[in-house]
Amino acid sequence: MPETLIKVDLKQSPYENEQIHNRWHPDIPMACWVKPGDDFKLETYDWTGGFIKNDESADDVRDIDLTIVHFLSGPVGVEGAEPGDLLVVDLLDIGAKEDSLWGFNGFFSKNNGGGFLTDHFPQAQKSIWDISGLYTHSRHVPGVKFPGLIHPGLIGCLPDPKLLETWNTREMDFIATDPDRVPPLAAPPCAKTAHAGKATGDVKTKIAAEGARTVPPREHGGNCDIKDLSRGSKIFFPVYVKGAGLSVGDLHFSQGDGEITFCGAIEMAGWVHMKVSLIKGGMAKYGIKNPIFKPSPITPNYNDYLIFEGISVDEAGKQYYLDVHIAYRQACLNAINYMTKFGYTPAQAYSILGTAPVQGHISGVVDIPNACATLWLPTQIFDFDINPSAAGPVKSVTTDVPMPLSPDVI
Ligand code: ZN
Repeated sequence: MPETLIKVDLKQSPYENEQIHNRWHPDIPMACWVKPGDDFKLETYDWTGGFIKNDESADDVRDIDLTIVHFLSGPVGVEGAEPGDLLVVDLLDIGAKEDSLWGFNGFFSKNNGGGFLTDHFPQAQKSIWDISGLYTHSRHVPGVKFPGLIHPGLIGCLPDPKLLETWNTREMDFIATDPDRVPPLAAPPCAKTAHAGKATGDVKTKIAAEGARTVPPREHGGNCDIKDLSRGSKIFFPVYVKGAGLSVGDLHFSQGDGEITFCGAIEMAGWVHMKVSLIKGGMAKYGIKNPIFKPSPITPNYNDYLIFEGISVDEAGKQYYLDVHIAYRQACLNAINYMTKFGYTPAQAYSILGTAPVQGHISGVVDIPNACATLWLPTQIFDFDINPSAAGPVKSVTTDVPMPLSPDVI
């Protein structure tokens, strides 16, 4: 039996758990230590530490203070790990916590985080997804059921002081280019809500003041939200500090490429069973700057898709130069519009793109002036035929439980 080195009590605030932290900083004390070759389990909160509830109101999504995220389990120290090594992490298995077999997906208000399609969905909404073994379905989004491609949205090692300074400097400089933007350009350090694990006194104060927020993916990996980094994957992480300091959290039962809904995929509390080993000096040997990984041998076996194209011309008809972000947005909007013809509300269709194992591809980036992105919608997740036909779309979806929506309070 692998030992559970970090335990999480969902009834307890994550701030009271010393093996949890929500910032990146080299001085965060190791929560526990393992040896190369060890396998062990870590339990995790959902990324909000239990703030989002399984209920019929989106007020929690609207009102959440996003400076509290992400609550991570760790850092796990690995004996013998030194800067320049590669930490090899086998994700042996991942699951939902037995006392919490559900997850959430939502859209943040444009005034509190926003999301990929925030101009189209500016108000807070959420959907709750029940987890039943391999499968998930939602009372708020009928007509779909799919197996989970379970993965950690966030996993990585602690930065060293130089890398931390690089992150903070470049992101603060970026924010300074448009400091009043809504949503903001980046997330600066925020001492008030920092959780520095076991740290106390001056060290805790220093971590709170300087600790990098966990929102963006960075050179160490971090919040990459890669749906294919699923159980069974093997990841090779750059090591920057003695002991590596591996942390993990933000578990997703399932997610579409891009995690476009931002709050987020199907977010859940759970556990990760992993094994660690080292490649000494591996960063230089393999020329590694960002993590690399091998995919899982197990993936949902979809072989039929409806594929939506998008080009780098925005909703107003403005031309952009080979802009993949605009092109993917158009592909997503095209898919949402199509799904509404079968009875979905636009919000339900958006939720499906955020939660189901939808693929996003950069299809063309050289044919000036338009980039082409494609969104692959697996047709087999639907319990009706979603393909186009000469007969036209059949309204197949009726909703008994409306998707919770909470307008902003003015
Ligand atoms: Zn997430």
